[in-house]
Amino acid sequence: MNQEPLEKEKILEELAKFKEKDLKYSQGNILGSMCTRADPLAKEVFCDFIDSNLGDPGLFKGTQTLEEKAIKNIGSFLSLEEPYGNIVTGGTEANLMAMRAARNLARKEKNIGNIDADEYIVPEIIVSKSGHFSFKKAADILNLKLVEVDLDENYRVDINSVKENINNNTIAIVGIAGTTELGMIDPIEELSQLAIENDIYFHVDAAFGGFSIPFLKDFGYEMPNFDFSLECVCSITVDPHKMGLAPIPSGCIIFREKKYLDSMAVEAPYLTTKEQSTIVGTRLGAPAVATWAIMEHMGREGYAKNANECMINTDFLADALFKEGFELVTEPELNIVAFTHPNIPTDELARMLEEKGWMVSVSHYPKAIRIVLMTHIKYTHLIDFLASLREIKSELNIK
Ligand SMILES: *Cc1c(COP(=O)(O)O)cnc(C)c1O
Repeated sequence: MNQEPLEKEKILEELAKFKEKDLKYSQGNILGSMCTRADPLAKEVFCDFIDSNLGDPGLFKGTQTLEEKAIKNIGSFLSLEEPYGNIVTGGTEANLMAMRAARNLARKEKNIGNIDADEYIVPEIIVSKSGHFSFKKAADILNLKLVEVDLDENYRVDINSVKENINNNTIAIVGIAGTTELGMIDPIEELSQLAIENDIYFHVDAAFGGFSIPFLKDFGYEMPNFDFSLECVCSITVDPHKMGLAPIPSGCIIFREKKYLDSMAVEAPYLTTKEQSTIVGTRLGAPAVATWAIMEHMGREGYAKNANECMINTDFLADALFKEGFELVTEPELNIVAFTHPNIPTDELARMLEEKGWMVSVSHYPKAIRIVLMTHIKYTHLIDFLASLREIKSELNIK
């Protein structure tokens, strides 16, 4: 660290050099990210609330009310009148909170995972193979056994595999509404039935799909039920910093009842509140405020239009790839297209695309090039991308 203070101009100059090295969403070559350029309004609001602390909400009553309003808004499009929850750092923290609530309740109500019990029983959670890796972190942190179940031929969770893996130690079943790799929606309704029949906590991870499925329905898309209208859904994760257009870090966990938050509450002695249920202590209010502001600014209509445009680009790309001789892993259900070429190894294809300036991601199950069609990707970018794919084919002498 430098001894003498450095002037602001010098620091900004230095920073500009580093920022230069970052990619920009507006260049249109970030094809594998679930995040996108934050809305300018959200950025402005974020900066304005940069020193608010929701870890000590008695000092920031206005910000606290805005978090409640954001939660209420999100609950409203997830069919829950009286939602409980928080704006958190992302889907990872939201899933961690859901699993923690499930574990704590199972301790209390079923004596599973109880350290004081005569015999310690390891709690188990059931997540499909396409579950996000945040569940691995949650299992590790919370000392749970992660039971990974199979997928069906369309890369949705296989219900029979879930059935077969339920046992007396199962404390949670997770359904995914918009898988990270392929954007597939699990049969949430059937999962919720299994959860009811077996009296097990049911969590829906809609980190990616939560801010588009409800609005695509408004636009007339046929989308399965995935929210609190299903009686047994205990909690839902949604990520405002993905399709919600909020700045990073904005995730959200919504619980059906207050008892889930209460199950995690610990005393917070030196603060203005008596208890805290969140994982994070000192907690920035800006993401909550920016999430509320962007939702007001977009409205249902704005999100519907946004999600529809992403789907139009998705369908266009899927069609064009098919015509160019590429193979789609599956028919896209949300705005993700995954594809392979029968004669080009996927890693090789990814490398060649990167050489041409395209930042794609590679899914691992199954292995494929994965394109997430977020709002920053426009039709003209896709035309250029397809041209690059044709170039690659001709460089490799492939028709
Ligand atoms: C992105 C994602 C997560 C993790 O969210 P972060 O915001 O990256 O922590 C969890 N689940 C699903 C389905 C996701 O797509």
